[in-house]
Amino acid sequence: MKNILVVGGAGYIGSHTVKMLASRGYNPVVYDNLSKGHRQAVEGLPFEEGDLGDKTRLKEVFQQYQIEAVMHFAAFIEVGESVKEPSKYYHNNVASVLNLLDAMQESGVKYFVFSSTAATFGEPVQPQINESHPQQPINPYGNTKLMVEKMLEDFDRAYGLKSVALRYFNASGADDSGCIGESHTPETHLIPLVLQAAAGKRPSIKVFGSDYPTPDGTCVRDYVHVNDLARAHILALEKMEKENKSLRYNLGSGSGFSVAELIQEAKAVTGVDFKVEYEARRAGDPAVLVADPSKAQAELGWKPMYNLKQIITTAWNWEKNRRF
Ligand code: UDP
Repeated sequence: MKNILVVGGAGYIGSHTVKMLASRGYNPVVYDNLSKGHRQAVEGLPFEEGDLGDKTRLKEVFQQYQIEAVMHFAAFIEVGESVKEPSKYYHNNVASVLNLLDAMQESGVKYFVFSSTAATFGEPVQPQINESHPQQPINPYGNTKLMVEKMLEDFDRAYGLKSVALRYFNASGADDSGCIGESHTPETHLIPLVLQAAAGKRPSIKVFGSDYPTPDGTCVRDYVHVNDLARAHILALEKMEKENKSLRYNLGSGSGFSVAELIQEAKAVTGVDFKVEYEARRAGDPAVLVADPSKAQAELGWKPMYNLKQIITTAWNWEKNRRF
């Protein structure tokens, strides 16, 4: 299975996965409407501009490139925004995916790799979240991703569609080449915002909440490098195809860092003592989200290769020299 349609392939995690797929002998075809993605992120690779909701166009592209599997990255991803504008999230993250799955079904494409999220779990009931942890999202973003996971289970039972759902914890860092990295407008993610403060592009970093039930009162997250995520996609795709079965994995490092700890590490990496301001909590944020990645390790042989310092170092390298 070599011909992979990467929907949202011009975005952050998509573009890193596309680059890795191409370097390993796959033929990735990027399908992106460029509403959030960047054409420069996938220079030199087959590119089709199109919408997830355009079934006719999707089916043409499946046929033109003899697509065998789809990787789906084209989602809205901001927890805070999803609380304020849930309709936008249900349309893009659920209704459009249903359209994509229908297009696959009608075209005989039987393999799907889905970007899910730690946000499908809600408030953790145990320190590290494994695949058996209850899925009770506390924000619309998590709800939309869980709905698609449920859809995929039903599509497997009824139509034999095989899927991988990868629940990312906090995707972060940038490619070592410095050619691609994280670029959202507006940027809402912690590491790029922290590094923009270090670069003098922002006056300060605002910490959302210092009264959480965590050791220093700030939220704890599990940061996982984007290239480690990209590698997991390929490993999971290969296992799904080989065993012809649907799979679910939680992808994180297994270690949590608080917002305050991350800021300290960023100050050490950049050598800049940027300003930090403490603000109110952001709606929809659980206090702690840390993965138990042992299933991915046991079944895929996957283990993150980048630690927090390397994540921040690659992201800093990108921030200083970014092209888009
Ligand atoms: N955060 C923060 N200030 C910011 C952006 C994020 O304190 O400007 C916090 C946020 O509340 C969360 C953590 O950093 O606890 C990671 O947030 P991010 O948006 O990067 O990822 P998420 O966990 O929402 O996927």
